[in-house]
Amino acid sequence: MLDRGYDAEVIYEGVESRHMRPVVPLRKTPAVKAGKNKPPTCEHGTWTFAGSDAKRGASKWRCPSGDCAPASVWIKADRLHTLIPRGTDRWKSLYHQRGAVEREFGRLKHEWGMLPLRVRRLPRVRLHVDLTILAKLATALAATRT
Ligand SMILES: [Zn+2]
Repeated sequence: MLDRGYDAEVIYEGVESRHMRPVVPLRKTPAVKAGKNKPPTCEHGTWTFAGSDAKRGASKWRCPSGDCAPASVWIKADRLHTLIPRGTDRWKSLYHQRGAVEREFGRLKHEWGMLPLRVRRLPRVRLHVDLTILAKLATALAATRT
């Protein structure tokens, strides 16, 4: 789950190549303004999502009445057509979880003194972060026990 600042094709490719599914809102690029992210439509209405195949790297969309020929199409996964389609309950539920992570990062930065880092170099920063999180968990454990 990433915010729209990460809405770039290279991010989607990188996430998919690691066998994960990206959940990123769209920026209003010209392609989005032209409606290229929308599901297919026909005279029967807007086509409905009918599942994704990660191996195939595509999602299936179906004519709402099934009278079209073919009645369904596979759309290759890309930035505009993700394997977890935007607007589905699953996408909304996953994206909603992003807030919890951001809140925790905010707490660590502002309440647990991780924003102005007072150490340099990755091993020292890692140790600082590990000790901070350990202290935070110990505090939470103590609060639970009382
Ligand atoms: Zn149709």
